[in-house]
Amino acid sequence: MSRIVYVNGDYLPEGEAKVSIFDRGFLMADGVYEVTTVIDSKLVDFDGHFTRLERSLGELDIANPMDREGWLDVHRQLIAQNGLDQGMIYLQVTRGAPNDRDFVFPDPETTAPTVVLFTQANPALLDSPKARKGIKVAMIDDLRWGRRDIKTVQLLYPSMGKMMAIKAGCDDAWMVQDGTVTEGTSNNAYIIKDGRIITRALSNDILHGITRAAVLRFAREAQMPVEERSFTVDEAKSADEAFVTSASTFVLPVVEIDGETLGDGVPGPLATRLRDIYIEESRKAAI
Ligand code: PMP
Repeated sequence: MSRIVYVNGDYLPEGEAKVSIFDRGFLMADGVYEVTTVIDSKLVDFDGHFTRLERSLGELDIANPMDREGWLDVHRQLIAQNGLDQGMIYLQVTRGAPNDRDFVFPDPETTAPTVVLFTQANPALLDSPKARKGIKVAMIDDLRWGRRDIKTVQLLYPSMGKMMAIKAGCDDAWMVQDGTVTEGTSNNAYIIKDGRIITRALSNDILHGITRAAVLRFAREAQMPVEERSFTVDEAKSADEAFVTSASTFVLPVVEIDGETLGDGVPGPLATRLRDIYIEESRKAAI
């Protein structure tokens, strides 16, 4: 079934939506994005994603083309027009399409940002086979740029990393810088040792995950100790449990790291509990 998508103010069948070949998102990866999960046709953590979008745009000096209410309206229109019950809404804003290619930023007075949103249905979102089994991760070098806190569309290396992981018989890769894990290709990374949840502290090295913020808050509320610090590859391989978080996968248990099985090789009790809490609370708070 053809989706209705949003492009620069219009709602169109996906085959009719067009963006210029001069768009700086296409030519230079000069753009940012967000992915917001939809459960029961409602948005999970909309305000977290909106706030991060504003920050990403601000860091790149791109004017925010809409206010909170405007963004919320487009998200809700797309949910309604596509009858979306479970899945995601992908949103992208680029610096727009000047009529040529130039390293110098175009004048924002004459070049408006390009705005694209579309839905992705996922009936297996809540009852995910990967969550039941747990995933395997491979370690790879983190070769990305130094501003990973900005959610840009420069996803070539993460995409290559995912392919390296698949080639190695794994589901995903964790990236390593100076011996410590930064994050997954499209998620934040955690280990659990002696009941303590350990995850890298926020900095320019990682994306400030919206799911990360929620999960750490729920963990603390459930009296689970949290350490926000870097952890080594060896610590990861000898952890009791591990997991990743992202808007589209929630809390996803990791059962194997670089060929080392964690615990019994099945999703651990704390990761499983956090997944349940996260889904329950997010569902309650969705708007
Ligand atoms: N880190 C990276 C590199 C990501 O791409 C993502 C997901 N886009 C995340 C972390 C998780 O962020 P969030 O919980 O906001 O989806």
